[in-house]
Parts: sequence; C-alpha cells; structure tokens
Amino acid sequence: MIFIFGTRTTTGNPIQTGQTCPACGEEHSIMMVPEQRYFHLFWIPLFPTSKQFTPVCNLCGAMFTTQKVPVTDEVRKQYKTPKWTLLGPIVLGLLILAVIISVSVTSVSENSDLKAKVENPQEGDIYHVKYDVHQYSLMRVASFSPDSVYFHLSPGRIERKSDLDKMAEMDAFNTLELKGFSKDELKKNSIPEIEILRIRR
Ligand SMILES: [Zn+2]
Repeated sequence: MIFIFGTRTTTGNPIQTGQTCPACGEEHSIMMVPEQRYFHLFWIPLFPTSKQFTPVCNLCGAMFTTQKVPVTDEVRKQYKTPKWTLLGPIVLGLLILAVIISVSVTSVSENSDLKAKVENPQEGDIYHVKYDVHQYSLMRVASFSPDSVYFHLSPGRIERKSDLDKMAEMDAFNTLELKGFSKDELKKNSIPEIEILRIRR
C-alpha cells in the first residue's frame, strides 16, 4: 500500500541527561533519544508535528517511559526541530517568490520597451490597444514629430486580444484620418479610453 501523505518520524542524536537508571542504578547513564514526527506529502516534509523522547540506559540498555524517567526542560531545549521538516513550505515559498520576481521583471522590461519605442518611433509600428472590456484594436504609426506621434487607426474592433496579430496581417487601417498623441501621454499610457498593451515593430 502506498501512502501519499501522512506522518513520518525522524530520530535525532541521543542527549545525555545525567539521570540515574531505575533498572541498573547506574548514575548519569540515561540518554534521551529524541524523535520528531512530521507531516509529509509524497515524502516531501510539510511541517513538524509532535516531538517525543525515549529514555534509554546506555549501560544496561533498558528503555523507559517518560512517566518513569521524566524529560527535563533542558533536554527539550537541546533538541531543536530539524529545519528540513519544513522543506515543503520553504520550496513552495521559493517557487512563488521566483514566479513573482519573473513576472515583475517581465512587466518592467515590457514597460521600458514601450517607452523606448514611443520615444524613437518608426513608421509602421503597430500599437495593440484596448478600448474597453473585450474591445481591442490597432493603431499604426504614420508619422511623428519630436514630441508627438501620429497614427492611422484601424476602424475594426475585436473581442479577443490574441487575435490582434491576425488583425494586423489584414492591414486594414483608415489612412484618410490621422490621429496624434503626445509622446508624453503615450509613454504614461494615459490617453483617455485607450490603453496601450504592446508595440510591435
Ligand atoms: Zn541501566
């Protein structure tokens, strides 16, 4: 039978306690053997659960209950929960962190890419824009001045952002009308009712 989750036990190094063995009477012969239980999922430790100690005499080998040989606070302090019993959450946390970092790095680079393309426009640059929910369209750079960019707009609106590339291939732009925006508002992406999603060159 395969257990995909449950608890497992790890045994730590025995701790000398200085206690006297109730069986053979030898002084300082009791060692506490620590055990840490932890919850696992597919054998990946998720979190530690209970901790227990088994008193053993290192002379006669007798084992006792902790009712018979009590565990001292000192012993409890000496045995630290192994960090690896938290491996699952640590790995998961690192994964989440990696995803967050890669997403933010991507958005930063896309943003600076957008600014660079607005600052140095090229005739034919295609702007993917969003007008409203499920209202996507294109703008194509027709000309520019030092502080403004002029566009031919596509009269069509589509519902799916992913179809914008196909729409660009159809090359349907209204070349009779020129629409101008300042580079400033383009870079800030602050044109009313138009959000720039990306610029294709
Ligand atoms: Zn003993």
